[in-house]
Amino acid sequence: MADLSDQQKQRYLRNIAVSEIGELGQKKLLSAKVLVVGAGGLGSSALFYLAANGVGTIKIVDDDKVEISNLQRQIIHNLNNINQNKTESAKQKINLLNEDVKIEAINLRVDKNNLPSLIKDCDYIIDCSDNFQTRFAINQSCVQNSKKLVFAAVKEFSGQLSFFDFSKKNQPCYSCFNHNDIEQNFELPISQKGILGSVPGVLGSMQATMAINQILEVGENLAGKMIICDFLNFNFRKINLSKNASCKICSS
Ligand SMILES: [Zn+2]
Repeated sequence: MADLSDQQKQRYLRNIAVSEIGELGQKKLLSAKVLVVGAGGLGSSALFYLAANGVGTIKIVDDDKVEISNLQRQIIHNLNNINQNKTESAKQKINLLNEDVKIEAINLRVDKNNLPSLIKDCDYIIDCSDNFQTRFAINQSCVQNSKKLVFAAVKEFSGQLSFFDFSKKNQPCYSCFNHNDIEQNFELPISQKGILGSVPGVLGSMQATMAINQILEVGENLAGKMIICDFLNFNFRKINLSKNASCKICSS
């Protein structure tokens, strides 16, 4: 790992001042490579914080274009980006924020066929997608390729956050407790996809923080656990996830 430049020592002064980080931790962040699937609500805040903290290489994959109805929560985009690819819009903002960060913007809808090559060279996969089919495909690819997956999902006033470490044996996967089939191409109607705009901002920040902790190798992770956040009543619960012996994805 290259030494930090004087400018980097200034930029990351407040990170470096944290005893768990220091200059060595900052160098680990600058050397890390993560994949963020989705540049929407979760992705907007996850990407901003990963980039601001100097996670050195970020691959962003999304196939959507920016629409006016996105701006209520997808804060990485603005009125100048309407009809632009979300990956390009996100790349522009990150380039303005931190010149240390190398961005690979890939305009593509991820599926089980293209995921293996997308995740191959990434240390962490951050699932900021908004549909079940993509979540199942990401989960399956991460299981098959022994990857580490930072998961979040949001709806209305609620959010879920978890970490799946498939580099270790006998870990539960997302499909262990969601028995939907990966082949099903179902989408919830928009009437069932209501979301308070600030909620994905919180969960996306949590995803970025969890990935950063993991890169730094500090703290406990959420492997085998999930945090359920209720922002209507501000209740936060941590539940245990069990491995399902009959799971089609991770048990064979
Ligand atoms: Zn499973």
